[in-house]
Amino acid sequence: MRVGILGGGQLGRMLALAGYPLGLRPTVLEPGEESSAGQVCPQVSGEFDDYRALYELARASDVVTFEFENVPVESARWLAERVPVFPPPRALEVSQERLAEKQFFVSLGVPTPPFAPVDSREEFDAAVASIGLPAVLKTRRFGYDGKGQAVLRTPADCEAAWAKLGGRPLILEGFVAFDRELSLLAVRGRDGRIAAYPLIENVHRDGILHRSVAPAGNLREELNERAAEYASRVLAELDYVGVLTIEWFQDGPRLLANEMAPRVHNSGHWTIDAAVTSQFENHLRAVCGLPLGRCDAVGHAAMYNFIGAVPPVPEVLANPDAKLHVYGKGARAARKVGHVTLRAGSADELADRLPEWDAQFERRPFVKGE
Ligand code: AMP
Repeated sequence: MRVGILGGGQLGRMLALAGYPLGLRPTVLEPGEESSAGQVCPQVSGEFDDYRALYELARASDVVTFEFENVPVESARWLAERVPVFPPPRALEVSQERLAEKQFFVSLGVPTPPFAPVDSREEFDAAVASIGLPAVLKTRRFGYDGKGQAVLRTPADCEAAWAKLGGRPLILEGFVAFDRELSLLAVRGRDGRIAAYPLIENVHRDGILHRSVAPAGNLREELNERAAEYASRVLAELDYVGVLTIEWFQDGPRLLANEMAPRVHNSGHWTIDAAVTSQFENHLRAVCGLPLGRCDAVGHAAMYNFIGAVPPVPEVLANPDAKLHVYGKGARAARKVGHVTLRAGSADELADRLPEWDAQFERRPFVKGE
């Protein structure tokens, strides 16, 4: 089966690589010349709203998916008139706009932090008055990795945040003093069958994912079940097909949905080396109408992102447990260029080894030309 993928970044690359053992033939669409994914499979070069390029991708595909949630919804809908597109374009639409996304969660009884729309200075003042400080002001569209956000702790912060972000459609959220951040990856097949990976614990640095531990440690099983149940509501409502990621704040016994991504996710990279079926394989199985594979973790894993530049390969591999993934992207500050996954046999062994791994894979300052 020929699978078209909108987006040629590392997620597209890992999807393509997961497709070959299943006998699938991937093609990616990506602006520019040789993308990360374009190094490992055929690429159609064009913008995501270039209908000539979209037509070319449709002709090269039996099914189309995406690895990037800012694909224009109209492009996904246009493609869906010509070739099956999974996940459904409606999932893109909901997740591209933070207000619509939070309202969608609320409509399904999935808890979120308190929030209010902000379209004017008056609405901003009213939202601050009703939600209180601290709070987070965010742009409703095109925010990722902490971009387009401001944390408000004092009334003076409100002025600065308004000066920075005012004039665009915004959302104000109550600041959650969370214990930790978790994510859940769930997958739904074309037949409606749902499977979920265990909850993952994520640590961010400068708004970018630094480390994931899976399964999340010290977790009551009940939270896994609750997160999976919330995800099933979202999947069923959207008649979703593929992998869906929901990011959560854990606040004591509560799980609050922060956002969702209608795609495979950085916090699921450990599944390549430490789950029965990787997120990439399960996404492809789902969109191609194949039976899903087991989502169980094999042991306990930690995944570290390489941001800006990959450390010297021999240094990474000097750790015999290290499974290295390099994305074939040029070095650039704040860019995800690779990751490493390490596995331990038990939660206790992982806890013992984590400090040593943390030290080895500590975020290094970006050095130009490295
Ligand atoms: P986001 O782009 O919405 O995922 O936000 C990026 C990061 O900012 C999150 O991973 C959190 O660490 C932090 N953050 C976002 N929203 C909130 C909130 N309402 N309360 C506390 N921290 C937040």
